[in-house]
Amino acid sequence: MENKKQTVNIGLSNADDPFYRYKMPVLLTCSQGKGNGIKTIINIAEIAPHLNRDPEEILKYMSYTIGASSKIDKDNNAYSINGEHNNATLILILDDYITKFLQCYKCGNPETFYEFKQKHNMPLRLRCKACRHISKIDPCEKLVTFILKNLQRENLETFILKNLQQQETPST
Ligand SMILES: [Zn+2]
Repeated sequence: MENKKQTVNIGLSNADDPFYRYKMPVLLTCSQGKGNGIKTIINIAEIAPHLNRDPEEILKYMSYTIGASSKIDKDNNAYSINGEHNNATLILILDDYITKFLQCYKCGNPETFYEFKQKHNMPLRLRCKACRHISKIDPCEKLVTFILKNLQRENLETFILKNLQQQETPST
């Protein structure tokens, strides 16, 4: 995985566009172990920052889609799925993720961020930085629950941090 890094356009629908400005590293896989202990390591840690998404979220999507459990080795920053999985299959699954959870449903731009609408039947949305369109994500997607939990945790952390900063600010 250390040779000169090859990049591809984000989203298979943009694969043939030589001028596309959003790029990510090519998805690479490597199988490790034997028999029942075999697992496929995927370079999600390298790809995720280019998508501006949590690597664990991408791993979860792959693991839900394949129906195999996943593992994160934090010491080695290695993300893996149990079993042996074909590189092409994983590229297609990653593209599914990109279509559903990253690209704007209107203009296709990959610069989006999540928004959460409480008490709504489609609570998770994507806000596009380019056209401002709000894409509503299908709540039946298993990953939605995982993302919402993460968002709530982030909100809580921001809230706690803000309170701490206020307490630390000198009053004079
Ligand atoms: Zn858009």
